[in-house]
Amino acid sequence: MHLIETRSLCHAYSTSTEDVLKNIHFVADERQRIAVLGPNGAGKSTLFRHFNGILFPKSGEVLIRGEPITKANLSEVRRFVGLVFQNPDDQVFSPTVEQDIAFGPYNLGLDADCVAERVDRVCEMLGLEGLRSRAPHHLSGGEKKRVAIAGVLAMEPQVMVLDEPTAGLDPQGVKELFGFLNDLPNSCGVTVIYSTHQVELVPEMADLVYVMERGEITGAGTPEEIFLQE
Ligand code: ADP
Ligand code: ADP
Repeated sequence: MHLIETRSLCHAYSTSTEDVLKNIHFVADERQRIAVLGPNGAGKSTLFRHFNGILFPKSGEVLIRGEPITKANLSEVRRFVGLVFQNPDDQVFSPTVEQDIAFGPYNLGLDADCVAERVDRVCEMLGLEGLRSRAPHHLSGGEKKRVAIAGVLAMEPQVMVLDEPTAGLDPQGVKELFGFLNDLPNSCGVTVIYSTHQVELVPEMADLVYVMERGEITGAGTPEEIFLQE
């Protein structure tokens, strides 16, 4: 049984008749690092939004641990699959960084000690200790992005999905973030799925690569298989 599996997934937005996802077969297993590559508009964000039930298929299936996503299991699915949006302003909204990170765990119904412990841990992992009492909307883009990632990580999902996590970061920020993401499968047993335009870093950052173009998966394999073909 796969952590995430899509079968013949098709999606169309109501504003257009054309399918923006066409017959997508995608599989994610435990502790994998999966890169999804492709030009803007290829459908990466749309695919990611199916992984935790923000969007539902027009046809085909999205299976989480073998089960389709339904209204009844939606909150469980969202605990299992954490999605970090491309734009942290869509995700970061509390008065302080630590409140923002605590928001998700509190909503899981955890007690205050447990929430505090998780906030401490993810702040340390993402180097946010010095920013805890700051207002998120006054932080730099890269700092905000780390806060958004910390907030999702504090929910302790089994799968972390990140939509262009390195967009807008400087080269040092990209290196640090990729270093952090690269360790997650080993340090936390988490499967990491991300989209990026930072193709040159993917060979050391992925076990599996999917290439998307115009709503279709046009390549899938190990980095060696994908990059030697091209
Ligand atoms: P990308 O991953 O290509 O940068 P984004 O996720 O930033 O794409 O997409 C831009 C956002 O603008 C989308 O999240 C979506 O909400 C919105 N958007 C994109 N295209 C359209 C469209 N044709 N009609 C309405 N909203 C759109
Ligand atoms: P990517 O993440 O690969 O850049 P997206 O999934 O954001 O691609 O977009 C795929 C296609 O769907 C694009 O043509 C985009 O314009 C369209 N799209 C994205 N979001 C929306 C939306 N909210 N409403 C309508 N069309 C959208």
